[in-house]
Amino acid sequence: MTAISSGQSREQSTPAAPTRTRFGVMLPLCVIVALAIVCIVIAALTSAQRANDVAVEHEKDMFKNAIAYRGEWSLRKLKTVIAPEEGEDQAAPADLERLIKRVRSAYKTLFDHDFVLIADNAGNLVHSLVNVDAPKPELLPAAFAEIAPVLAYLRGRDGPAPERIVWLTARQQSADGAIPGEAAFLQTLDSGMSVIVSIAIESGNGSKLGVGDSPAVLALQFLDDALFVEIGYRLQLANLRAVSDEPVTSGDYVLDLRGAHGQTVARFSWTPQRPAAAVLQSVIPFLAIAIVGFALLAAYLLRYMRHTAAAIAAGEDRLRHLALHDPLSGLPNRVYFGEALESTIARVRQGGPPTAVFYLDLDHFKDVNDTLGHSIGDELIRSVTQRLSNTLRGDDLVARLGGDEFAIITTASADHTLLQSIARRIISTLCAPYMVGGNTIVIGASIGIVVIDQHSDARGADLMRYADMALYRAKNEGRNRACIYDNVMDADLTRRKQLEKDLREAIDNDRLDVAYQPIVNASGEKIVGVEALARWVHPERGFISPVEFIPLAEHSGLIIELGECVLRRACRDGKAWPGLSVAVNVSPVQFRQADFVEAVERILVETAFDPSRLELEVTESTLIGNVEIAEAAMLRLKALGVRFALDDFGTGYSSLHYLRRFPFDKLKIDRSFVLSIEKTADAAAIVHAIVSLGRGLGMKVTAEGVENAEQHLFLRAAGVHFMQGFRFGKPCSAADISAYLKTPGAFRGLERDAVAAMAS
Ligand code: C2E
Ligand code: MG
Ligand code: MG
Repeated sequence: MTAISSGQSREQSTPAAPTRTRFGVMLPLCVIVALAIVCIVIAALTSAQRANDVAVEHEKDMFKNAIAYRGEWSLRKLKTVIAPEEGEDQAAPADLERLIKRVRSAYKTLFDHDFVLIADNAGNLVHSLVNVDAPKPELLPAAFAEIAPVLAYLRGRDGPAPERIVWLTARQQSADGAIPGEAAFLQTLDSGMSVIVSIAIESGNGSKLGVGDSPAVLALQFLDDALFVEIGYRLQLANLRAVSDEPVTSGDYVLDLRGAHGQTVARFSWTPQRPAAAVLQSVIPFLAIAIVGFALLAAYLLRYMRHTAAAIAAGEDRLRHLALHDPLSGLPNRVYFGEALESTIARVRQGGPPTAVFYLDLDHFKDVNDTLGHSIGDELIRSVTQRLSNTLRGDDLVARLGGDEFAIITTASADHTLLQSIARRIISTLCAPYMVGGNTIVIGASIGIVVIDQHSDARGADLMRYADMALYRAKNEGRNRACIYDNVMDADLTRRKQLEKDLREAIDNDRLDVAYQPIVNASGEKIVGVEALARWVHPERGFISPVEFIPLAEHSGLIIELGECVLRRACRDGKAWPGLSVAVNVSPVQFRQADFVEAVERILVETAFDPSRLELEVTESTLIGNVEIAEAAMLRLKALGVRFALDDFGTGYSSLHYLRRFPFDKLKIDRSFVLSIEKTADAAAIVHAIVSLGRGLGMKVTAEGVENAEQHLFLRAAGVHFMQGFRFGKPCSAADISAYLKTPGAFRGLERDAVAAMAS
């Protein structure tokens, strides 16, 4: 698994979240849709049931009305028959004989009752008529016997309210004792269920004969099947019938007519119309359409949500990827690396495989970016990424922490020898030339390594600090190498911090010193100038080389004050040496300061030093990435008369472009070439080339680090204008320089023999 794929696998491990979200939304939606469908169905069924109930209620009312109407109708008929005929004295007392006669004569035409009964005032049956169609004429006496108690009750005689009857029109005896003159009721006789009407005959004196003991006429009609058929037909009640206690056909409705005591007097049954079925039948298609519509809507919503969720998940994945990866290389970034490191530490502590962290820094990458442009720099980073991924094992993690910083977590080994060999392999792979945009680029790499120990309690940040220390050491030891962190480095860091503190104090208390090294003409006979070199004698550690404290000052920013200190001192001291140029080293950090020119001007004014005797030495790194600003600053200072020397030429990026563009007055060949002149033919050739290059561009050439006569002779022959080195004088105090200038022979660095030899 490469670093890139490890990043992907990390993202792939989280798709459960969108799925969960999807289900989290889908489930309630499904429940809501299901509930809605269930509610609709229940509403339809409830409405249908309600329609059935309402219909049955209605049928019940209609049936009760029909029975009641039958009673009223019978009563009206009977009243018509017994009413006094035309011409008869309305006020004359009724005569039983005449009543019987009238009933008999009307019977054939007006009555369709089964029995007509006339009772005298004593309640005895005095006359009866039987319809020819009456079902059981022989039961008449028995029927009368059953009706008699009701008649007695109607007449107000003592006794219980009759059972097995349902009043249809007349009320029972009221509370004040008033006896109704007429009544219609339904009575279940042994011979059958019947509607009975009774009318009391009026007496002649205005009172009713029926009150107390007047005669009464009763008409009885059995409720037979024909009648039920007729009522059923009229009321649209199918299967209308009287029933007893036997079970009825399932689905049929049973109506109990109850008497005064709540007891069932008559039972009827019919098949209710049940409009629910019809309602449902008409509603079901729409219901089905609504349900299908709901289902489709739900499906559409689900699909839409799934798409949206997928789009959101993809967006989240992309954002997560962007948040955790470097867009240029596609490698995990610092955040991702930090998290991975913490989990690696936890894994190692739990007994996981031995693990090491490589902190890798590219050398000269910034130069490439600044000189060849950012697009080439970006391409180079991609190539570096590619090479790193190919060099490492699949389960190693490679991350890009910043511009030219990479980090690797590898479980390959914790063994130092093996780690060093892995680091060497990485460095040699990265140091091989790159072809980018038609340019051949060579860069270097330094690596700091820290091993993650099962017993260490260091956190991720601590480990990275250790790796950084190791990297610092690797760079300090000459770059293109790897260093493994050990405890000594921690002490180094502490020491460095202490030194930094001491340096600050030394600068603040003006305890830094400046030494001057003579620069002589080609023959070495005459001092033409001096180079000011910072010196620091530590109260406890003694002499500390600028090679150690200058980078420290640059790193901490102290170089600004230090540089101004040296420049001020050099200008002051230099005033004592008329005709000599005074060279002062300028750090890239100083040169990048916005007010650098003003600072130099200020010091020149302050010390009243002749600017044309001041020579500022800068290295190529001062110019890289700073072209416009550096050029402007140089031009402003040159306008004052200040001269510029390109120091340590040949060790940096050595671009001809810089030499042509910047107005240098002098080239200083680095000491390393002078040292190698006698050893390698290359170095001699390079020195020749630099000299002719400088001369070609109209610059003076100085050779640094000239230590012996051979080097002097060679350089002089090569055409070098000025020499600097121990052969002509080590850095010394200002007083020493003044002494020599007063007595030239006293200068201890000069070797007369060599000078004589050179002169010859
Ligand atoms: P540099 O500017 O190239 O200075 C020349 C260095 O070469 C000096 O080292 C000098 O002592 C040494 N040198 C001269 N002739 C010989 C020789 O014949 N043989 C050998 N072996 N060495 C010789 P030094 O003083 O240790 O300074 C080292 C570097 O520190 C300087 O290199 C310069 O880059 C930096 N430096 C010194 N003083 C300052 C300063 O005030 N400001 C800044 N920015 N850098 C400074
Ligand atoms: Mg120098
Ligand atoms: Mg130098």
